[in-house]
Amino acid sequence: MDTETNHNNENSPHEINDVLESEQYGTDMSYKHKYVWLSLVAHVLLQMGWLIGIYTALFHAQTATILWGVFVGVFAMQGVVIGAHRYFTHRSFKATPLLRLILIISHTMSGQYSMFTWARDHTMHHKYSDTDLDPHNSNRGLFFSHMG
Ligand SMILES: [Zn+2]
Repeated sequence: MDTETNHNNENSPHEINDVLESEQYGTDMSYKHKYVWLSLVAHVLLQMGWLIGIYTALFHAQTATILWGVFVGVFAMQGVVIGAHRYFTHRSFKATPLLRLILIISHTMSGQYSMFTWARDHTMHHKYSDTDLDPHNSNRGLFFSHMG
């Protein structure tokens, strides 16, 4: 089964169609992982920013700055939870154009790729859970399903 999927949001429709047509949605354990360098560098920088933020909050920041940081973090998280997940993927509720704009802005602040990429990956995750068509295939391990 030719199921080379790179899970870095660059899957061509042709590769996905090959897997779909084969009707074998398992996990090909002979798959060779590839580093997605742009994502790797972005994640390292984001984690460094988080550590610098904690250090700054503990030893240098004023209370108002800490509260602003918490607000921004919670706002961005809601962009993922309410915006990307509940609205743009599952259409769990109706939203006005203004709310959609706010959700897109807050999701963008989360640093989890674009809204479209997130919704596409999550749709694939639900439809083909734990197979090669699932970008978060847990059969490939904790790091792959949550970070890779
Ligand atoms: Zn979901």
